Formats: sequence, structure tokens, C-alpha cells
Amino acid sequence: MRKTKIICTIGPATESYTMLKSLAGAGMDIVRLNMSHGTHAWHGKVIDHVKRLNRKERGGLAVLLDTKGPEIRTGDVGVDIKLCKGDGFIFTVRRQPVLEPDCVEVSYDGFVDDVAVGDIILVDGGMLSFKVVQITGLDIHCTALDAGVLGSRRHLNVRGKSADLPSITKKDWQDIKFGVDKGIDFIALSFVRQADAIVELRSYLQGRKARVDVIAKIESGESIPHLDEIIAAADGVMIARGDLGAELPFEEVPHLQKEIVGKCRKAGKPVIVATHMLESMIVNPTPTRAEVSDITQAILEQVDCTMLSGETATGKHPIKAIEVMATVARRTEESQDLSSTVQVEASTNAKREIARSATVLNNNLKAKAILVFTRRGLMAVLVSRCRPIRPIYAFTNTSHVRRRLGLYWGVQSFNVKFSKNPEVTIGRAVSILKEQQRLAEGDRVVVVSDIFVDGKYIETVQVRVI
Ligand code: PEP
Repeated sequence: MRKTKIICTIGPATESYTMLKSLAGAGMDIVRLNMSHGTHAWHGKVIDHVKRLNRKERGGLAVLLDTKGPEIRTGDVGVDIKLCKGDGFIFTVRRQPVLEPDCVEVSYDGFVDDVAVGDIILVDGGMLSFKVVQITGLDIHCTALDAGVLGSRRHLNVRGKSADLPSITKKDWQDIKFGVDKGIDFIALSFVRQADAIVELRSYLQGRKARVDVIAKIESGESIPHLDEIIAAADGVMIARGDLGAELPFEEVPHLQKEIVGKCRKAGKPVIVATHMLESMIVNPTPTRAEVSDITQAILEQVDCTMLSGETATGKHPIKAIEVMATVARRTEESQDLSSTVQVEASTNAKREIARSATVLNNNLKAKAILVFTRRGLMAVLVSRCRPIRPIYAFTNTSHVRRRLGLYWGVQSFNVKFSKNPEVTIGRAVSILKEQQRLAEGDRVVVVSDIFVDGKYIETVQVRVI
């Protein structure tokens, strides 16, 4: 069983019910909707397909809505603009129609105040780059540093700077409201710079009584000095390497990835590595060896999830891309020795210590699995943090908790009816696992569950032969 989870971005290549079913069959664990593209009607249709898939086939597939955030884009150019190295070019915030062939409008008025002479402007993360040479009124005069073609509505970054825009824009609030109404499970908040944006979103979600977890996207250079407070405030983190490697020098990205994964593992928060993991498979049926190594590196760092973006949204080989990611993950996980250490520090918190004890028992006794019975999902999350050798089978009585657990390393979640008698519930769970041939008669397992003694429920860790 693969322990690292796979998040797939849905787009025109994968929007149909049939494709979503195939993606789930190939190993997709979480559906990502990127609100930088598509209408609410389009996203709503995908969410309805996922709900149908959960009802009819698979169950447990969660939806993550990824906000557009304060993204800066160029306007329409009509005809693509060809640029040679050294060409002069103007980015403008003038709002009258721009007709010059060497000029393009920028969507954000403050852009002209945010940039300074000498700054480097990157288009689409560096596919084109420009040096700012002069600012006159509303025009930013630049020199092209590379040859290339500028199309319409391209994404802009200024190296080393974040836009002075609110982290949650008006469009984001509209998208968040839409997602909450549709019952999505996670919101990934783009361009988080400090914890306050997460606090603001969480307070909105609490007001709506929405059971939605908040994932902070680390992609802004300004977020780096605030990593600890962001990780503490969020339910999880996505390392959005595309924008991160545009706002900061790209050679910093692998080091930041390692640092952020380490901090998340220590804080017990799930962490996603995103972007360009199998970029070449948007076109090619096979990955580059460098991409395989990149996935391997993330799995060796023990991230909870790896993510596919264009590969599954618009790529030519979405199913193959998932299969490649799953194969590389399994191979890397097999090579890891998790036996010698339980990967969290001892604590005085009873639930954390129960999770640690279950992992120690599992590893030392070479039990086949850890079965966790959990209402809110917390016990399964705590066991996942310890990175046990064997699978964590989590049983819960609510669908949203089951879906949410899809994000966590090593956890396979199931719905089961909770009986007043925990023994009956355990019996139901064991039947499901035997039926699905995940376990067999005579297997030894570790069970984390309540027992009912003298009118009271007591938390226990048990070793059983089923
Ligand atoms: C990224 O920049 O790496 C990222 C995941 O963000 P988006 O795809 O929303 O631009």
C-alpha cells in the first residue's frame, strides 16, 4: 500500500465523470480545483461528479479548493508579442486601451508603486524576464533579458517582492463562499504572508459552521520569516514551488522545501509538495529522470502528499502521470527503514502518547496494521505523524472526517457504524478489512479504540489476533 497521497488538479483534460473515476482508480487521493481558472458553473459540475463518485464507487474522495490569491496578470495582447533579448518593453497600469506593440497592461494598479528601477519582472515563473530600467508615470520601462513570446493574461512576479495586495481578494471570498456552499473539504490559501489571513479565513469558516480545513500555500518570499506562526495557524501547508521559485531565487527552493517539511513534521501538520513534479509528462508519455528523482526526494523527506497540476489538468497523459507518481512513491517507501525510530518526540499529552505507543507496538511486533477508531479523525492524524511501518486503517462514523483523512500519510479511511459496544464496531471494521483482502484470519494488529468498562469509555491500545 502506498503511504504518500496524491493530489490531482482537475482541468479540461479530466473534467468528466469517467475521467475522474479513472483518476481515482489510478491513485488520486484528493481532487484539487484551481480557482485561477474556470467558472463556478464548471467547478460546481466537477464537485457534483466527485460527490456522485463517492456515492456510487469510491467514497472518501476529498475536494481541495485552491484560491487564486493576489495574483498579478498581464492583460490581453490580441496577437502574441515576440521579443528578442535586449528589446525595450513597457508594462503599464494605464486603463485606456493599450495599442502599442511593445506594451502590455497589468491587472493591478499598485504594480507601478511596488517595482523599482533594477527589479526583475518574471513572466510565468521565468519563461520570460525583464529588467526595470525606468518608471515614468503609469509606465514601467523594461529591457527583455531573454528572447520569447508573451501571450495574453500571463502571470507576473517581481523577484524578491510580494504584491501589496490583501491575501484574500474579493474574488477569493466569492470562491470561498461558493466552495463552502458546495461542501468542499479543504481551502488552500494562496500567497499567505503571515498568519492573520489564516485566522481571518478560519473565523469566517467558524461563522458558517463549515467543516473545512485551511492549507497555507507557501509561495511568497514574505512568508519565509513567518513560517512558524503560519504553520501553527494552518491545518496544513502546501509548498507551492512555482511562485516560490519566482519570488525567490530558484536555487533556494529545494532548501526551503526541506526546511518547511521539517517544520511541518515537527509541528505535526500535513505537508504537500507541489508543482512541476512531472511537468514533462504534460506532453511526453514518460518522465525525465530528474523528475523521478524530485518525487523520490519529497518522499524521502516523508511529505504527506505530492501534487500534480498541469499534468492532470491539461496534460496529454493524466492517468500515466498518476501511475508514475504512485510507482515512484511505492518504490521509495519500500526503500525507507521506518523501524528504528518513532518519528515524534515524547510528550505529556495522553492522546499523542497513545499514538506513539501504538506505533512502537506496531513496529516492534511487526503487526500487519494499526486500526484506529476515531470520531473527529484526531487519533488517526496523531498516529500518521509517527510514520509507522504498516498501514493505518482509520474507521469513523462521518463521511467528512473520512474524506479529510485522505490528506494524511499512511491513512486509509473507512466509514463504519459506531455501536454503543466498541467490540461490535471493531468486529465490523475487521470484516471490512478481510472482505477487501487487506487483512486475513490470524493476522496480528494493533487497535486504538475506546472500551466500555463499568459504565465508562476508556481509551486503549490493544494487540489482537483477528
Ligand atoms: C505554485 O505556484 O507552485 C502553485 C501551486 O500555485 P498555482 O498553481 O495556484 O499558481
